[in-house]
Amino acid sequence: PFETLPRLIRLHAQATPARAALVQDGRQLSYAELDALMDRIAAALQRDGVRPREAIAICAGTSIAYAALFLGSLRAGVAVAPLAPSSSPESLAGMAADAEARLLFLDSAVHEAMAPVRAGLAQPLIALDDGGFGTGFEAWLAPQGSTPEPVEIQPHWPFNIIYSSGTTGAPKGIVQPHSMRWTHVNRGRINGYDSQSVSLISTPLYSNTTLVCFFPTIGLGGTVVMMAKFDAGKYLALAQEHRVTHTMLVPVQYQRIMAREDFGDYDLSSFKMKFCTSAPFPAALKADILRRWPGGLIEYYGMTEGGGTCMLIAHEHPDKLHTVGQPAPGHDIRLIDDNGREVAPGEMGEVVGHSPAMMAGYHKQPQKTAEAEWYDPSGKRFIRTGDVGRFDEDGFLTLFDRKKDMIISGGFNIYPSDLEAVLQQHPDVAEAAVVGVASQRWGETPVAYVVPRNPGLDAQSLLEWTNERLGKTQRLAAIEFTEVLPRSAIGKVLKRELREQFPTAGK
Ligand code: ATP
Ligand code: MG
Repeated sequence: PFETLPRLIRLHAQATPARAALVQDGRQLSYAELDALMDRIAAALQRDGVRPREAIAICAGTSIAYAALFLGSLRAGVAVAPLAPSSSPESLAGMAADAEARLLFLDSAVHEAMAPVRAGLAQPLIALDDGGFGTGFEAWLAPQGSTPEPVEIQPHWPFNIIYSSGTTGAPKGIVQPHSMRWTHVNRGRINGYDSQSVSLISTPLYSNTTLVCFFPTIGLGGTVVMMAKFDAGKYLALAQEHRVTHTMLVPVQYQRIMAREDFGDYDLSSFKMKFCTSAPFPAALKADILRRWPGGLIEYYGMTEGGGTCMLIAHEHPDKLHTVGQPAPGHDIRLIDDNGREVAPGEMGEVVGHSPAMMAGYHKQPQKTAEAEWYDPSGKRFIRTGDVGRFDEDGFLTLFDRKKDMIISGGFNIYPSDLEAVLQQHPDVAEAAVVGVASQRWGETPVAYVVPRNPGLDAQSLLEWTNERLGKTQRLAAIEFTEVLPRSAIGKVLKRELREQFPTAGK
């Protein structure tokens, strides 16, 4: 039969019942406890008449209960729609309805935030933190010792309906089949996870980054230490305390950790492998991590839809840190032009990808699904990424920008990432983001938002310094200092917001 995560967890519960599966804030759940809790969850879903292939929605901060609920639902063949708590109440209600969620699990903070739309919700509410609304989680669970009716999960059944980050527009419901998650557990084996692994994560359980660390660790019988709210100092202390071997962080989290003056005081010698994905990862930051943080470093480039995955094994290719690496095993990645034709070798184009594990489609959006697909002349199905890239002569992919972020100025294409890379080389620049703003003369012109590392930094001299290093058609019109860049909950810079907030529209 098809090997599923719930079945693997049962095997770990039999082989290593006392081993910690989930750890958070000094609390832990062993594999035997996790397995029993998953049974109670699956039995409760069956009692409530939630059938295989139907969905529940969860919107809450990271907790042991959340993680167990995710895994327990899968045992009943029920798909999970994990929703980002930072979304607006209207959008949360909309996503729960879109997923046709049968039950809605919330924590108290989200329940509070949803006050304006609560009356219109179709789903019964369950308080994941027993927060005094709806049904409490403990009360909802089937009694201790319950066992659910066995469900034979099929590879194409939905594992989750995960809403895209909404970086470029409204979030889209992406239906990921069980086979897709299974691929990532297998990839975990290649990435050195085993039953001795201890992973530390501080990326949310609702994001697609779970596939890089959370699911491989649990699938292979290791321990996941979870941090609900990221803090660089607390991260380092936990890593040292738990002798962490694997981790998944987004670029801005790496940046905050490496910037700490006490970084060198922590014993990080237990690390074997670190992972990064979700947003541009500056080459200088990768180099700094390789230099000062023990263990390997792997960057993934991909998207929730699946398909376009590339991986850079940074410790093996220190000369390729400016790239996102090569197509992951089994992946086929091509570059296409605006007419949907493949570009010549060495040219730039939109990245499209095929993989053994791709989304079935956008939930109930056949039109959007069709727009996201590309077929090669032999009929092979690819997913369009909306990202622009170029392969070098060794087959490593350099990523430029999202097509939507590209700036067209005086007829020239400007890639914000080129300008950001130059700014990031300046020793007094902590973070930088470049966007195009309207300009009477050029149509659009690039401006930069910079978070200074050194309060003495002067915007005018930084502008000159940067423009000296840029091509004539690339030059920045202005630099604005800011304390923080607007970011999504997963750490992506929200360029839409930066464009809107620019005070004077170009020059
Ligand atoms: P939406 O599709 O709703 O606008 P999103 O594309 O940000 O949101 P995700 O699926 O979470 O949603 O992110 C995929 C995108 O993230 C990729 O298309 C790419 O632009 C960016 N990305 C992911 N990994 C990397 C990486 N290693 N380097 C640069 N960019 C990356
Ligand atoms: Mg996307």
